[in-house]
Amino acid sequence: MAHVAGAPGIERITLVAPGAIGFGTAFGTTDPTLVCNTSVDVTSLLSEGRSDFLDYLAARGHPVHRDDFVPRYLVGQYCRERYGQYRDRARATGTRVTHIRERAVAINSLDDGTYQVELGDGATVTGTDILFCAGSEAPRLPAEVRAHQGDPRLLESPYPADRLRRLPHDARVLVLGSKLSAIDAALVLSQQGRRHCVLTSPSATLPAVRTRLRRSAEPAIGRRDWAALDPEKSSFDGSLTRMLVRAIRRSHPTTGGVRTRSGAATATRLLHEEAQFAGEGRVPWQDIVAEVIDALNEHVPYWRPRAAADVLARYRTLMSRYISAIPVRNAKLLASHASAGRLRVAPGYPRRIERTDAGWRVHWPDGSHESFDHVVVAAGYRTRRLTGTAGRLHVGYDGDGPQPELLADLRVRFPERGSPERIWVLGAAAGARHPIVNYLRAAAQHAAVAGDQVVRPRTDESAPLAERTAL
Ligand SMILES: Cc1cc2nc3c(=O)[nH]c(=O)nc-3n(C[C@H](O)[C@H](O)[C@H](O)COP(=O)(O)OP(=O)(O)OC[C@H]3O[C@@H](n4cnc5c(N)ncnc54)[C@H](O)[C@@H]3O)c2cc1C
Repeated sequence: MAHVAGAPGIERITLVAPGAIGFGTAFGTTDPTLVCNTSVDVTSLLSEGRSDFLDYLAARGHPVHRDDFVPRYLVGQYCRERYGQYRDRARATGTRVTHIRERAVAINSLDDGTYQVELGDGATVTGTDILFCAGSEAPRLPAEVRAHQGDPRLLESPYPADRLRRLPHDARVLVLGSKLSAIDAALVLSQQGRRHCVLTSPSATLPAVRTRLRRSAEPAIGRRDWAALDPEKSSFDGSLTRMLVRAIRRSHPTTGGVRTRSGAATATRLLHEEAQFAGEGRVPWQDIVAEVIDALNEHVPYWRPRAAADVLARYRTLMSRYISAIPVRNAKLLASHASAGRLRVAPGYPRRIERTDAGWRVHWPDGSHESFDHVVVAAGYRTRRLTGTAGRLHVGYDGDGPQPELLADLRVRFPERGSPERIWVLGAAAGARHPIVNYLRAAAQHAAVAGDQVVRPRTDESAPLAERTAL
């Protein structure tokens, strides 16, 4: 909406989404415990220029700095309020804006070059341009508990967090996951009471700790250096490491050596150590992260798919640890819960999780057993994808069928058709092309790319620039 509202020639914008606008999993919360892991600077609906979110907060009297990590409900309020403003702007220029509270299930290409979107209730809505921004809201259930779906002692997601608060004060809770949603769960569970909470994941690591995630005025790595990286050369890892270390030194000239290893033996010891360093302002790597994310999203799509997949697989753990680092405030809270014995990060992932009469029995890799009352799943989300062939695309998941090519301009192209469709893929589903998409800034960048094309006058087609549909 931010990029198309008020543009001339748009007859109708139809939003198709089952819930109210601006109440998604991340930012639809009302819980002040849950804070962003991104600073205000990059948590904006407009990716360029001064942070629009910073302006929004400042205009409402919040004493906020662009480096701050604010509660996620504030992002929700910001998105809802901006949506209302964009909707009114569109209506003022004669565009009809409607929201159909349904789920899209398929997109059919019609003979006249327009599209028909099929909805969950069997109704249809047509449009000349389709923006697919369905995000990822369906929790991924690990194989160990999949058979227990629906079990009252299995919480399939930590959200809404109120359900965690309602668990008995002395409950023993196993959380499957050790990244952002798992940390939300640990913070809520450990906040009050004597609950005993254990996080477990195959990586057995927690994210790194940072005090900010912000864009730099000057890039620490030149475009030429990024472009020179060749993922197919054996020197790639060495070149990348040298480039990043040089960039860290440049962004923090007072940094002595860049520390690449810690002696901490467990995830919670490392957390204590990193929380202390962050408290002392010793996080030299953090100021290149926003730039690295943007650069990876820009360059990786042009690498050969096989080479890109190899590099991303090699660096997945490292990337997820530093790119999705947590705010120092959360790290200190977790560290204090761990010191008080309320929280533990298991050194391994269960070999087996068994449902018993009383709850759950967990078989750890070292042969020991442990009992829990509840299991909370925080193991990530399944991303919706467009799958199918020219003529009909389903709103499905990975593996549901062939996926059309996603071009640099985020348009979909079928191998059997020469020209791309007027269908754009934004946000999490654009992960088919861009490596880092689970980040509001990435979705905002996609929206700018797609919005520019939607409002650009069509010179080559006879169909009028008329109806837009966003899913
Ligand atoms: C727990 C959590 C915490 C996060 N924290 C941060 C953070 O601190 N900072 C940050 O930058 N990013 C964060 N993110 C990522 C951030 O939420 C996303 O980048 C952002 O919400 C993307 O916006 P979106 O509109 O593309 O997708 P979403 O916000 O996921 O919205 C997708 C919408 O599509 C709807 N939908 C789904 N399927 C269909 C369908 N078939 N038909 C129609 N509608 C459909 C959904 O109901 C939903 O309304 C977090 C994500 C999670 C899950």
